[in-house]
Amino acid sequence: MKIGVLGSGQLGQMMCLEAIPLGYEFYSYSPDPHSPSEKVGAKGTIAPYESKKEIKTFLEQVDILSFEFENIPKPTLEYLNEQTIVNVFPPPKALIIAQDRFLEKSHFRKLGFRTAEFFHLTKKTSHIEVAIEFPWIIKTLRFGYDGKGQVKIKNKTEYDAFLISAFPSESSEYLIEEVIPFQKEISIILTRFHNGDIVCYGAVENEHKDHILDLSIFPARIPVSLNLEAIEMASKLAESLQYVGTMGVEFFLKDNLLYLNEFAPRPHNTGHYTQDCQSFSQFYLHVQAITGKLPPTDVRPKPTLMKNILGNSYQESLKIADELLKDDRYRLHLYAKEDAKPGRKMGHMNFKGNLEEVNPLFHEL
Ligand code: ATP
Ligand code: MG
Repeated sequence: MKIGVLGSGQLGQMMCLEAIPLGYEFYSYSPDPHSPSEKVGAKGTIAPYESKKEIKTFLEQVDILSFEFENIPKPTLEYLNEQTIVNVFPPPKALIIAQDRFLEKSHFRKLGFRTAEFFHLTKKTSHIEVAIEFPWIIKTLRFGYDGKGQVKIKNKTEYDAFLISAFPSESSEYLIEEVIPFQKEISIILTRFHNGDIVCYGAVENEHKDHILDLSIFPARIPVSLNLEAIEMASKLAESLQYVGTMGVEFFLKDNLLYLNEFAPRPHNTGHYTQDCQSFSQFYLHVQAITGKLPPTDVRPKPTLMKNILGNSYQESLKIADELLKDDRYRLHLYAKEDAKPGRKMGHMNFKGNLEEVNPLFHEL
């Protein structure tokens, strides 16, 4: 069976590494000529996501289609929804919602979940008074990642200044959000199977540096009741989308209340710990789910830490990783990217254990 995936970055690479030993051939599609996925054996099509002709040719080569990247143009997702060449998991509708912050937060509200207060800012709505207390975070409506396209606005003067250059084109759109002064960020990684069963290890706790995920701690150090509530909310979200595959759901935790921030319709950076948690990885579970397998029954994840390795001081990080790898509880996952730019995710390291046991060098990576 041939699995086709739109996107060819590190998530596709790690999916491919799980798909091959399960007997699948892995095909990736993206405009990137030096893709991490191809470096581990994916057969790559290099073409734009906008080209329906190329997408159709790609679909004719594979038996099933999935995603490792959510910012696929909406017309392409609509085409994928209509075509009858292959089955697509997760449903393209999930990506259409996830890639538009207004649709996404409105969907959360419809499901009855708590979110930050928000306002859809367009040229047309820019004269309306926004009934949200300062401070705000203004996010571009689409295509944001790692905090890119976000600005903090503290008062009316800053907002007025922002509005002056906010609409370089008619189509510029934003979401204004109330800042949640959270105590913790957590996420839920879950995999939903064709029969509706869900595999989920519970919440993982996440720390960001300069808006980029830095450290994940599994299990999250939160009360059991909140953990169950987060699992329930994420499961309800997955069900509402008739989701099949792995997804990541991000929450803020403030005063023992969960605020749903966003979800990613694909395996998620905060789920990388699953590769070394001594149970099933999020990529393995994704491949099993989209290919129609039943969920595993014996699921026993152990405490695990994940630290991202960025391009900032890559050579030093590799030296530290070498040192840590003398201890067999550490695992290094590098993405074989061409150049190490600051802020670029180059790899990550997992530690099979908890914060009290980890070598302090781990935090220097
Ligand atoms: P990523 O790709 O890292 O998930 P993103 O660019 O899609 O990020 P968000 O996840 O919404 O955007 O925001 C990135 C980070 O900014 C959050 O993890 C959180 O630390 C902070 N942040 C975002 N929205 C809020 C908010 N309303 N209140 C407080 N902090 C926020
Ligand atoms: Mg996020």
